[in-house]
Amino acid sequence: MKPIIFCDFDGTITNSDNIIAIMKKFAPLGWEELKDGVLQQKISISTGVGKMFSLLDSSLKDDIIQFVKDTAGIRPGFNEFVDFTKQANIPLYIVSGGMDFFIEPLLNDILPSDCVYCNRAYFNQEKILIEWPHTCDNQCNNDCGCCKPSIMREISEADEYKIVIGDSVTDFEAAKQADFVIARDILLERCRTEEIPHQGFETFYDVMHILKQQMEVKA
Ligand SMILES: [Mg+2]
Ligand SMILES: [Zn+2]
Repeated sequence: MKPIIFCDFDGTITNSDNIIAIMKKFAPLGWEELKDGVLQQKISISTGVGKMFSLLDSSLKDDIIQFVKDTAGIRPGFNEFVDFTKQANIPLYIVSGGMDFFIEPLLNDILPSDCVYCNRAYFNQEKILIEWPHTCDNQCNNDCGCCKPSIMREISEADEYKIVIGDSVTDFEAAKQADFVIARDILLERCRTEEIPHQGFETFYDVMHILKQQMEVKA
């Protein structure tokens, strides 16, 4: 078996969702309407999230980075999990609907940045501008923003055993493409109801345990 891992960031590596936390802390009124529109699928993720960040002054950049560093909280066992994948030679990619400017400072010492697929934020205008370098390929018409299934199709080989780790609805399209899913929260419920092969997790010690079991079964 040749495993390859695609791991979500917000709510999976971190304890909770950083975009929501940033908006609660920094955004003026109006962001919740956009959030609700996205959740109810009235507007696309890229439109909704792009508009949320356009409510924020670019001058807030350093304050936002510091806020995320202070509050995000990395789930227990993540560093050990990254070491484990390196030793076992398992390719590990972070695929996130979050933004480079708050993800990279948290992962800098742990993972090289070319393993991280996410959106880009620009601070050279009055308001923060988001760009979406990983839009949907011709096999996805979900308008994902950062399209996880498209990234999986681009990176993985046919003979690789694709493992998705995630927590939310934004991981569901990726989970459908996976050979096995390691899930918590909403994604765990969805995997149960849709009968996608999966196991639940809370910490990355659980994830390592599940991976070791998988590798024994498939060896
Ligand atoms: Mg998430
Ligand atoms: Zn897509």
